[in-house]
Amino acid sequence: MSTVTLRNVRRAYDGAWALDDVSLTAPEGKVLALLGPSGSGKSTILRLIAGLEAPDAGEIVIGAETVSGPGRLLPTEQRRIGMVFQDYSLFPHLSAGANVAFGLDRLTRADRDAQALTWLDRVGLKHRAGAFPHELSGGEQQRVALARALAPKPRAVLLDEPFSGLDPVQRAELRDATLATLMETGTTTLFVTHDAEDALQVADRLAILKGGRLLQEAAPRIAYDQPASLDVAAALGPINVFDGVCENGVVATPFGNVASALANGARARAAVRAEAIALRPGNMARVLDVRPHGAHDLVRIAARGVVWRALTPARMGLGETVDVEFQPAGAFVFSA
Ligand code: ADP
Ligand code: MG
Repeated sequence: MSTVTLRNVRRAYDGAWALDDVSLTAPEGKVLALLGPSGSGKSTILRLIAGLEAPDAGEIVIGAETVSGPGRLLPTEQRRIGMVFQDYSLFPHLSAGANVAFGLDRLTRADRDAQALTWLDRVGLKHRAGAFPHELSGGEQQRVALARALAPKPRAVLLDEPFSGLDPVQRAELRDATLATLMETGTTTLFVTHDAEDALQVADRLAILKGGRLLQEAAPRIAYDQPASLDVAAALGPINVFDGVCENGVVATPFGNVASALANGARARAAVRAEAIALRPGNMARVLDVRPHGAHDLVRIAARGVVWRALTPARMGLGETVDVEFQPAGAFVFSA
């Protein structure tokens, strides 16, 4: 396994930057999640790492080898990179076992079949080795695709929204199973998703992208607790925003004060995570709406004409009045 590094990588399509000076590192044997909305450049990063396209500037290094850079473009098949995409990319006319064996062309037939079975076993599908893709569920097909990507012992694997086509139950199961396989095999992984929960669940490192730019690269805990910008905070869960002014070390919102390190009089944006808000009976705000949201309720609260959302285990009634409190760890102020 190897680290994968992008240094000052740029890529334009039709004169617009799809990637604008992106530098990041996928650490050896760990999972780097690339999180960003549609069009933020995630798949472009994977295509450049796979060598399906060349960057316009910058370089890509796998282990100690520069695979893309000025005057250099190592062909895809020599990069030793495994790939799993959203649309199941299994060969339809080959059995699950033959799909996994496909990339093992340097082995004898017997070794190839044995290895394929070992990898199918690792993803829990040994008993389905003879099944064809159309006989497998979407989740099973993705597990075969993962086995096929890992079997040739790649230097890293690229997963592009591998769970997006699946229903929520299949998705959570496959996510956990995939992560277990990646950890067991110590695989350097770049995992692309637009889903914050997926990213937080699987990532050792998190790279948050928007509009072709890298907003922050950090451990998930750090990105969540110390977002570099409002965009990063918003990428990782529902937040409430209030534009105000910093006075005496706080920004006063209709729901309470948020501590701020900005100068007195500075225009500020306060951001408070919905899940950092606690409600109890009181008189600060009025409950507009209550919706079940997993173990929590999503409660819309209003005060002085401003509406915020709180994710809270408290069971509130419509029209009730409440006091609002937020955990400081989930409340941020950014310069406006
Ligand atoms: P993501 O995977 O984050 O949704 P992409 O990397 O696919 O984003 O795309 C990033 C940007 O580059 C988008 O604006 C997209 O329209 C553009 N883009 C990607 N591939 C091409 C292409 N082959 N031709 C033209 N524009 C492209
Ligand atoms: Mg994409």
